[in-house]
Amino acid sequence: MYFFFHSKPAEFKGVAVINYHRIAHLKCDPWDIGVEPANFASQLAVFAKYNVVSLHDLKLAFDKKIKLKPNTLALTFDDAYQDNFNLAAPMLQKAKLPATFFCTNVTGQKKEFWWDVLTRIIFETPVLPHELCLHIPQPYTWYIKPNSNHPDALSLQDFFYQLYNVIIKYYHEKERLLDDLRTWSGNDSTDESNLTMSTTQLKQICSDELFTVGIHTVSHPYLPYLTYEQQLHEFQQNSHFIREVTGVQPCSVAYPHGGYNQETLKAVEKMKLDMGFTTQHEALAGKVNKWEVPRINAWNCNGVAFEQKLNELLSR
Ligand SMILES: [Zn+2]
Repeated sequence: MYFFFHSKPAEFKGVAVINYHRIAHLKCDPWDIGVEPANFASQLAVFAKYNVVSLHDLKLAFDKKIKLKPNTLALTFDDAYQDNFNLAAPMLQKAKLPATFFCTNVTGQKKEFWWDVLTRIIFETPVLPHELCLHIPQPYTWYIKPNSNHPDALSLQDFFYQLYNVIIKYYHEKERLLDDLRTWSGNDSTDESNLTMSTTQLKQICSDELFTVGIHTVSHPYLPYLTYEQQLHEFQQNSHFIREVTGVQPCSVAYPHGGYNQETLKAVEKMKLDMGFTTQHEALAGKVNKWEVPRINAWNCNGVAFEQKLNELLSR
């Protein structure tokens, strides 16, 4: 167990951080990260019944300087997709709701995230070959249903999740692996709707006092696969990037893919960050460590259904 020198857990009841990724209609969404714009509007209307606070207020609660009322929410967005700027931010401004946007150094690069490329290749290529061999670095072959009769043939869904984990594990080879998959599938299409916001837009977000920007690492790796030094570097260089673009020093981090370990916690302590956010799908209940704050992955449903699901988690 890692010993925190500067951090004692705070007690919470009836408080939740809601995490969004995309406000968009996604043709294919294997990780349930898309919320339809109409559903998002309906959810924001429901948030009028709750006390929506900024991460700054959540930090004050962790420091025991304020006590949050029951039914308090904070809103976060991961990956700084273009739709966050075009759709989410104006709707939040209209409703006067604070939010924090966690961004990587990919922001503004006009480059799709690898998981969006992988999703398109696997689920949107009209006809995929029924087997795939990748060198990772040893050759490994997958057989894919329904066209493969091999006894180990996988459903498309399982095949996708296995490839996803392979890319996370062999992260330094992800560009080569994606190129191999493009060649194998014959699908080298791109989709501009998957791009991040530009750096100008990120700066504009930060200029609104409702919004803050947080650390989401340079390259979005699965942190437990990295050493302490590599993790610290990912945080420091991303923090530097955000400060350069926005002029504001970020003070919270969201762990990519929700992954973190003891080395991560040492690195956030070294960086003196206010809070660290996981993807543990639950409300803040009982003792919570400020560097292991759970977040509820926003459901893609209307406000009424959202309120029911949320209240169930808040009452635990
Ligand atoms: Zn992310």
